[in-house]
Amino acid sequence: MAYSYQAPVSQTLFDRASLVTPGGVNSPVRAFRAVGGTPRFMVSGTGPYLTDADGREYVDLVCSWGPMILGHSHPEVIAAVQEAVARGTSFGTPGEGEVALAEEIVARVEPVEQVRLVSSGTEATMSAIRLARGFTGRAKVVKFAGCYHGHVDALLAAAGSGVATFGLPDTPGVTGAQAGDTIVLPYNDLDAVRAAFAAHPGEIACVITEASPGNMGVVPPVDGFNAGLKEICAADGALYISDEVMTGFRTSKAGWFGVDGVRPDLMTFGKVMGGGFPAAAFGGRADVMAYLAPAGPVYQAGTLSGNPIATAAGLAQLRLLDDEAYAKVDAVSAEIRGLVGEALTKEGVAHTVQSASNMFSVFFTDQPVRNYEDAKRQEAFRFTAFFHSLLSQGVYLPPSAFESWFVSTAHDTRAVERIAAALPAAARAASEATA
Ligand code: PLP
Repeated sequence: MAYSYQAPVSQTLFDRASLVTPGGVNSPVRAFRAVGGTPRFMVSGTGPYLTDADGREYVDLVCSWGPMILGHSHPEVIAAVQEAVARGTSFGTPGEGEVALAEEIVARVEPVEQVRLVSSGTEATMSAIRLARGFTGRAKVVKFAGCYHGHVDALLAAAGSGVATFGLPDTPGVTGAQAGDTIVLPYNDLDAVRAAFAAHPGEIACVITEASPGNMGVVPPVDGFNAGLKEICAADGALYISDEVMTGFRTSKAGWFGVDGVRPDLMTFGKVMGGGFPAAAFGGRADVMAYLAPAGPVYQAGTLSGNPIATAAGLAQLRLLDDEAYAKVDAVSAEIRGLVGEALTKEGVAHTVQSASNMFSVFFTDQPVRNYEDAKRQEAFRFTAFFHSLLSQGVYLPPSAFESWFVSTAHDTRAVERIAAALPAAARAASEATA
């Protein structure tokens, strides 16, 4: 496929990067392999816009894969970072910023009685799983196909995000022993969960699920699914872990818990709570968290955990995220979803727009998508054409048909108008695309 717009400076940077970094990127989905072409190297971001190394501006519908819910370079977040950095960058001791961020999380998310800060979502889920195993004395973990929980060895089986984008089966480097205690089930299927518990009574440490999945595209839980998971876990003595790395502090003030009210035993967070810096967390029931070192026997640690700059950025961002901010993000998400649906309908392109509060994605199929198998049935080649048309017109989508789109409080009328102006040609490109 020929791409209508070339990016010479990004191309030069990508050539340099490819010599010194595998695939030229530090996280696979950034590489454009699913859609082809040269990844754009961004040099700055302001509000809803990103500017690339060739000087082109884009309306950003990725928002750093979720964290930038206030848009780029929010003045109050930047000021908090500048104030923190002036005092030093890392102390390796406890600090007040960590306490304040932990208090903010505990205050917002009622099931979180105690929380431990880490540096990435991967670390959060990895640690939560270890804690669940330590607490229950059991080995097995249930996860769902198409859910992504970071690149934790035991959780990469049938994962979403980049693993879905590239159609990777199971990753070399993960041993049978590491993956052998992972039971992978179809999403939104409580019967499958009941059957797994019946086959392994008293052996399952936890069920981990994305609170509302966004890593196979947006596939919300059907009514009663999360409540059913909780009930099945409780009946067997397993822990219910809700992975809110993506949904946490994004889908509402209290994340997806604020939407469905199902009370997890443990939860994981990342993205929004770091304000664009590496901060993440896991937390939940105080009796379970008491098993963590140094209070308890389950070891977990981190040199940069609770880093003062990351906690300052996260805290500043969370404090700005009030009801009004969520109403704004929800409204702009609804508006953009409407525009996308309208444009594709006009061109006769089969599609389904799915959303979970302000997270959303477009599947190129007219069938509802309830699990990973459904998601894979879409005509992803149409997404490729749609993506490149929008990119060439200055609208930046996730470079994969299996990812959520993200908006922010900074997506204003001007940004929406730019998207609206680009959509007709993109919809036409999707309609004319061939496999
Ligand atoms: N869990 C979920 C639901 C995620 O979406 C992600 C990342 O996209 C992770 C865990 C891993 O987070 P990180 O990329 O910060 O390691």
